[in-house]
Order: sequence, then structure tokens, then C-alpha cells
Amino acid sequence: MNLLAIESSCDETSAAVLVDNQIRSNVIAAQLIHEQYGGVVPELASRAHQQHIVPVVERALADAKIPKTALDAIAFTRGPGLLGSLLVGASFAKALALGLNIPLIEVNHMQAHVLAHFIGDSNPAFPFLCLTVSGGHTQIVRVRAPLDMEVIGQTQDDAVGEAFDKSAKLLNLPYPGGPLIDRYARQGNPLAFRFPLAEMPGLDFSFSGIKTAILYFLRDQIKTNPQFIDQNLPDICASIQYTLVQMLLTKLKRAARETGIRDIAIAGGVSANSGLREALQKTGQELGWRVFIPAFEYCTDNAAMIAMAAKFKFDQSDFVGQDVSPLPRMSF
Ligand code: ATP
Ligand code: MG
Ligand code: FE
Repeated sequence: MNLLAIESSCDETSAAVLVDNQIRSNVIAAQLIHEQYGGVVPELASRAHQQHIVPVVERALADAKIPKTALDAIAFTRGPGLLGSLLVGASFAKALALGLNIPLIEVNHMQAHVLAHFIGDSNPAFPFLCLTVSGGHTQIVRVRAPLDMEVIGQTQDDAVGEAFDKSAKLLNLPYPGGPLIDRYARQGNPLAFRFPLAEMPGLDFSFSGIKTAILYFLRDQIKTNPQFIDQNLPDICASIQYTLVQMLLTKLKRAARETGIRDIAIAGGVSANSGLREALQKTGQELGWRVFIPAFEYCTDNAAMIAMAAKFKFDQSDFVGQDVSPLPRMSF
């Protein structure tokens, strides 16, 4: 079975080819244009997708050594994401499926982040918990089967990726700042500064308070020492990262305790964070969890995870018609 998958929900244009159970190619074109604006500009994102989609798909097919005519199905991200960005991938996938007269498969981007754990040989067993942490979402998902999952905890305001990026902005770091906070944090002391930890009931999160706490903290420090950020960047980054990771792990531990589930996975862009990866390994050892951490290339947005999710749907002949349209707020 040869499957082409397309991801275009935000600011990465990606295409991947899956042959039977193996990812054969995974081409990702990131959009650097947004850096100068300090965030993703939707109009520019969809324009960049239009420019990238044909060369990215052609590269993915060439890398996999699969001609278009050998494809058995086309998959695409239906949502959630930016409407204009989703439209480019959806329209392209629909046109190609129509032209080749092969089935079309819609994929939920957040489900795909979770199912990235089925790329390769080390897979969690059902049921497992997945902490999905990305630029737009923070969710604890109970996964009963590949296509049967339920959100049991989520953020009530900002996503944790947003908290990383907005904190980085306050530190005058370029967008997206999450990876830079991670890099500086490695040289810093995580206990140098304390930020108040917001407490949400149950398994839910809140990340808007921490951002405000950091803003006020920096403003007060800069009043007495204008060079404060430059002189303390590693310690500030390490402290912010430590706080965010603790907030995530507190709820993940509670979810594991309440459900009795011990196969624990992380997914999404923030799962690339080295502080989170280390803390999860350590907690897993303490509590007897089997911990699943994706390879770096499958953490942030990529079409390989869309292909993996689509494979499960292909096996159930779960196809959609040409009347399908993107869903910017798609849930599952
Ligand atoms: P969603 O999946 O919710 O629709 P998205 O697709 O934009 O959002 P991803 O591409 O999965 O999100 O993740 C991007 C986010 O991950 C950004 O907020 C980025 O800062 C963050 N991120 C990436 N690497 C790291 C890292 N090493 N440390 C912290 N954050 C990181
Ligand atoms: Mg992105
Ligand atoms: Fe994503």
C-alpha cells in the first residue's frame, strides 16, 4: 500500500510517503518569513504553502521512489489549524485524488501528533496517555485505540508552546522562541528564580498567568538593573522552562494516578524540549511508567504523522468525498 500524506495546518508545508507500514520520505518546508513579524501571519502562511506544495510533494515522491501513478490513497490534514493554510493542502489533495481516481483520507492534526508514536518499532500499548503539547494545544489524551481517543485534560487559555514563545518574546528572542529558551536553559540554574504556579482544578491547565508573572518580574528587575536580561539569560530561561515543565508533569502524574495507566507518551512541538524529555524520563523511572518520546523530526509539524494516522483509516476504508472541507476548529 502506497500512501501520500500532506500537512499544511500552520506554517510548515510537509509531504510524506508511507509504503506498507514504513515511512519512506518526510519532506518539511518551514516558513521563515514569519520570524520578522514575531508570529505566524495567516495570509503569508497560505501564500507560502501555495509556493511550496508542488515542490514538496514532488520531493517526497522522488525520495520515496514512488511514482504518482503507484499511489493507493491521498491523505491531508483537515484541521485544526489556519483556514487559509488548511485550504491549500486540502484542495491539492482533493485535486490529486480526483485526477488519479484514488481514495481521499482526512486526518485530525492533533490525533496525528499522538499517532506519530506508531512510526517505527517502539509503540505504546493501549490504553495509553499522551500529553500533547504544541503551539496551539495542551492536552492530556486517553488513547483507547488508534482512532478512539478522548481529551481528559486541557488548557483553559494559552497553550504551553505559546507560553514558551511569549516568554521568549519578553526576553527579546526571535520567533519561535521555544527552542531558544531550551538552548539557553541548558546553561542556567532552574531554581534561580521562582514564578507562581497557577493551580487549575482537575486535569486542566492554565498558562496565561505565568506569562503575566514573567512580565511583571522582568519589569521590576529591569527598573533596578537595565542589563538584567542580558546578564541572566540562561538562569531566566532555565527557571521559566522548569516552571512550565513542572506544571505539565503535575497534571500528567495526576492523570496516570487517576486512570491507573502506565504507558505514558508525549507529542507535539514542545515534546522536543530537553527539560520536558529529561523530567519525563526521571518521573517515569520513579513511578514505574513506560515512557514514549518521539524522535525530534516527528515532534513538530510533519506529514509522516499524517501518513501514520491515515494508515489506520485506510485499513478501515474510512474515506471522504470531494465535498469535504477544512475544519479550523476540528476536535475529536
Ligand atoms: P498545533 O499542533 O497545536 O496546531 P503547531 O502545529 O503550531 O500547533 P507544533 O509545530 O506542533 O505546533 O509545535 C510548535 C511549538 O513547539 C512552538 O510553540 C515552539 O516554540 C515549540 N517548540 C519547539 N521546539 C521546542 C523546544 N525545544 N522547547 C520548547 N518549545 C519548543
Ligand atoms: Mg509550526
Ligand atoms: Fe502541530
